[in-house]
Amino acid sequence: MDAEATQAGGDTIFGKIIRGEIKTDFLYEDDQCVAFDDIEPQAPVHFLVVPKKPIAKLSDAQDADEKLLGHLMIVARAVAKQKDLSEGFRVVINDGPQGGQEVMHIHVHVMGGRQLSWPPG
Ligand code: 5GP
Repeated sequence: MDAEATQAGGDTIFGKIIRGEIKTDFLYEDDQCVAFDDIEPQAPVHFLVVPKKPIAKLSDAQDADEKLLGHLMIVARAVAKQKDLSEGFRVVINDGPQGGQEVMHIHVHVMGGRQLSWPPG
């Protein structure tokens, strides 16, 4: 991973959160990612797992990001357990305009705590 990119954290709102410029309580943090509650929760539990490396969107990820992307899933699982989502949960990555992505810093949504319907809108 590019150390400079990791430290820079990008210039989206998530970059500011990662760098501590916007105070946010982290549910989890390690050298590769952070997890925090979504500011506009769509379910009783709704948190985001965000890599420190500022990849804009999933379609921009490289083969070399395979391990990092897998790590985000493992962290999603661990935080879901911490949040007691034993009945299940949903993991979503929005990509680009048609995918409904608003913040151009890749992130994993994890939602649970109620019965979720399918398909999403
Ligand atoms: P996207 O549509 O890009 O997949 O999702 C972006 C998510 O980030 C939205 O669910 C939105 O509520 C959340 N979000 C945007 N700004 C902030 C913020 O400043 N703090 C937190 N905690 N979540 C944010």
